[in-house]
Amino acid sequence: MLLVSGYTFYKYRARALKIHWKCSTNHKNVKFAISEKGRALIIVAGYRFFKYRTSGSKIYWGCLTHNTHGCRAVIHTLHDMTILKCHNEHNH
Ligand SMILES: [Zn+2]
Repeated sequence: MLLVSGYTFYKYRARALKIHWKCSTNHKNVKFAISEKGRALIIVAGYRFFKYRTSGSKIYWGCLTHNTHGCRAVIHTLHDMTILKCHNEHNH
């Protein structure tokens, strides 16, 4: 079992191996994964997103290159990984 920012990801890890999610806006395949360093990731069409903020019932995910390239792609999910928003447009 993994603890990431106070959340357990045991369940999500198991789901990540089995379930592919569809992004609601661009219909690309969305996968949930755990990185080698134990961080939760969302992978959309080859782009990796990391969790950068939680607010209430929402989790905000940003592109891995947000800090280095200023990429604005974002995903919003609920804590059960239901996707609320998927803005998968990258500048790289
Ligand atoms: Zn990006």
